[in-house]
Parts: sequence; C-alpha cells; structure tokens
Amino acid sequence: MECTAAEPLARIEARIAQACRIAARDRNAVTLIAISKTHPAEGIAPLIEAGQGVFGENRVAEAQGKWPALRERHPGIELHLVGQLQSNKAEEAVALFDAIHSLDRPSLVSALAKAMDKAGRRPPCFVQVNIGAEEQKGGCPIPQLPALLEQAREAHLPLAGLMCVPPFDIEPAPFFALLDKLARDNGLTGEAASLSMGMSGDFETAIMLGATHIRIGTALFGGRS
Ligand SMILES: *Cc1c(COP(=O)(O)O)cnc(C)c1O
Repeated sequence: MECTAAEPLARIEARIAQACRIAARDRNAVTLIAISKTHPAEGIAPLIEAGQGVFGENRVAEAQGKWPALRERHPGIELHLVGQLQSNKAEEAVALFDAIHSLDRPSLVSALAKAMDKAGRRPPCFVQVNIGAEEQKGGCPIPQLPALLEQAREAHLPLAGLMCVPPFDIEPAPFFALLDKLARDNGLTGEAASLSMGMSGDFETAIMLGATHIRIGTALFGGRS
C-alpha cells in the first residue's frame, strides 16, 4: 500500500515543481489539495504516510464519517471542503473543515457567518464562481460576484479568494485567466488573493495562470467508482 501511494504523489509533485519552474513561481506558492472523496480511510492513510498534509472532500457527511478517526491518528492534517454546501450544514462544515471552497450565494454567507460566530472558529472561504455560466453547475454567476463579495466583507467572513471548475469539454486556460482577472478587478489582494483552480487534467495550465490551490483526485488516487 505505502509504495503505491508514494509513487503517484512523487509524480504529481515533480509535475507541480516543473510547472512552477516554467512559470517562475515559488513551489511554496502552490498548495496541493488531495481530493479523497469516495476513497475509504484505508486508501487515504498511505498518502498521509507518504507526506501529504492537505486533503479535500466534497460532501460534509462523508467527511464526518472518515476524517475524525484519521485526524486522531495523524494530527495536523488540513481538510478543505470543495463541494456544494447546504446552509443547514454550515455549522457542521465550520466545525470540521479548515477551508471552504464553495461559498456561492447570499444565504450561505449569512449561514457561515452565524456558524463561525457560534463556533468561534473562522475557516477561510473561497467564493466559487460559475466561470462557464453553466446552468447545472454551482458557483456565483459572474455578474453577481461584486455584490456577494461585498456581503461577505460586511459579514466579516475570512475571504481566501476565488475558486472555479471550468466546463469539462473545452480548453480551460481562458477560464483560469478570467478567474484571475475577476480577483484583480474585485480588489482581492493579500490574504484574499488565492485562486483555487486546476484538477487532475489541467493543473499545470492552472499553475501557469496563477493557481495557488490545485485540487487533485484521480491522478493521486486513481479512478472513482
Ligand atoms: C472531484 C473534484 C476535484 C478533483 O477532480 P480530479 O479530476 O479527480 O482531479 C477537484 N475539484 C472539485 C470541486 C471536485 O469535486
């Protein structure tokens, strides 16, 4: 088990390092989030033992089932939520996750602000943008982004930056470049300037275009059933 996890991690690490070199970016400017959704704890532990410290899940209930025990055995793991979040799960999400990548609507701003005040815990939030204007996809529509960011600032939510999942059947580079432009146009600087973009099939392109957080599942864990 151990060697089968270390090997894909080393391969991805080499590709990240190469993309950073080409883009003249510091390797430390890019965080690799290992997306462990659908994979059981037995499949995750070897990757932790191989040195991976940041993980992502897309469903609150699934993460609640797997991570408390894993974290007990491996303290210091950072856990990110990358999937859509229902407002009635905001308290559970704030308790479990160290970052939330799917803030995408006004009702969720209110729910997260309330949950954070109550918990005294403030995980940074990425605003997810529906970058390809796809009807079925989560994310804030681009025209509504300025108002949502304004609301998040007023609610004192800790803003991390922007996140996107481009349409899957088209070259992603223009969408990554657009997310970067939206961050700049909306004055997202300093701690709010992160860009969560890039997955197994396109993370090198995302790094070239300024990604600070790449979310990789399949290339680390193999396929999901
Ligand atoms: C599943 C998922 C990923 C990882 O996708 P892969 O193609 O398996 O690397 C990244 N981001 C989000 C939001 C996901 O749901």
